[in-house]
Amino acid sequence: MARISIIGSGYVGLVSAAAFADLGNDVTGIDIDENKVASLRRGECPIYEPGLPELLTRNLKAGRLRFTTSYADAVPDSEFVFICVDTPQSFNGEADMRAVRRAATTIAQHLRGATILVNKSTMPIGSGDLVAKIVKEHTCDEVNFSVVSNPEFLREGSAVHDVMHPERIVLGSDDRQAAEKVADLYRVLQTPIVITDLRSAEMIKYASNAFLATKISFINEIARICERVGADVTVVAKGMGHDARIGPLFLEAGIGYGGSCFPKDVSALAYMAEEANTHPQLLRAVIEINNDQRRRFVQKLQEQLGDLTDRQIGVWGLAFKQNTDDMRESPAIDIIRMIEQRGGTVRAYDPAAAENARPLLPNTTICSSPYDAIDGADALCVITPWNEFKQANLGRVAELMRTPLLLDGRNLYDPSDVQAHGLTYVGIGR
Ligand code: NAD
Repeated sequence: MARISIIGSGYVGLVSAAAFADLGNDVTGIDIDENKVASLRRGECPIYEPGLPELLTRNLKAGRLRFTTSYADAVPDSEFVFICVDTPQSFNGEADMRAVRRAATTIAQHLRGATILVNKSTMPIGSGDLVAKIVKEHTCDEVNFSVVSNPEFLREGSAVHDVMHPERIVLGSDDRQAAEKVADLYRVLQTPIVITDLRSAEMIKYASNAFLATKISFINEIARICERVGADVTVVAKGMGHDARIGPLFLEAGIGYGGSCFPKDVSALAYMAEEANTHPQLLRAVIEINNDQRRRFVQKLQEQLGDLTDRQIGVWGLAFKQNTDDMRESPAIDIIRMIEQRGGTVRAYDPAAAENARPLLPNTTICSSPYDAIDGADALCVITPWNEFKQANLGRVAELMRTPLLLDGRNLYDPSDVQAHGLTYVGIGR
């Protein structure tokens, strides 16, 4: 059993805190957001993440997990302090490190004895050294600490499963012993552990996300070509995916990637590359193709309806992907704003993200059922691949709409099935 502090109780920090507690450790989650800490103390889970409420309840009850706003409550007695604060994209593409700097400074003021600081947030290459420097500057001499980079690879929507069954653990440090001690926390998960230097560990995270984003932009470019030459990208991807060198995952053409990680991490890596005087041509293309997918989707809608003025558009899905309520960088935001700017009105439905979407889309009517969103609509745009939409009653969809037109931004449906219900089908790359 180890004594662990987790700084930041967001998607990564909260799931990590609950998981480390479930593995038998003594864990304190620390966040500056008083409301979040208050709701966690009441046993309420502030985010939609399958399996997380149960994990939190079990470990809060067992007394292995607690939450506080005070670093002093837990940092001095912790053997490990994980930094899980946000590192969002700043105006120039660079990662915004203000939360990390602030967390490192406050941690330093509360360190006692020997402590291992673990950078779990996605941080630019060189951040391990930066955190060490900040801590050194703000702490007294008798404190003994090491910094280990331990990037997180969980996916929202399956975060609990991903943290309990990771495909690898990556650790980087100048202090091999410290990295081994962090590795000991994970050994019970019986997964490959890669131990390397700080900068390589930091780069593994950026390179992994950039590679996945590249796969998505690659298949979206292939989709565009498919549309022009009369091929079906869904079949093409299936045929490609059987090749073990390629693999079937992340080969789904659609409206492109979104979320709190891929857009910001690809931009941050491109920024770092430029700062290092290299030319990130591929990364730039990946970003450009992704932005284009949103624009092209609205263009497709216009090609079908002509002018969008006074057209009523139903939108299914607001979250950036299924099984989450996270709206950060969701393609739905850009697509809906473009439709509204061109004179259309939007009625939208999402099973989980409605509340988070409301402040971002003040002109959009957020509906409480998918069928309510398309009542009298001129088109249905499917944005997020929730299971609920895959199983929709297409007959009812066709009956409710003024113009029976379905734009499938995720290639969720079989075109002939949609057409059999009297709807016009427009997919991506088919
Ligand atoms: P988040 O915004 O959901 O959570 C961050 C939390 O940190 C917030 O609750 C915030 O109040 C808190 N915080 C900010 N400054 C603080 C401080 N000084 N002290 C204490 N708490 C503070 O962010 P997230 O999605 O959990 O992401 C965290 C990091 O993990 C980011 O670097 C992200 O890139 C990375 N990451 C995220 C995911 C993901 O799917 N969300 C996956 C892998 C890696």
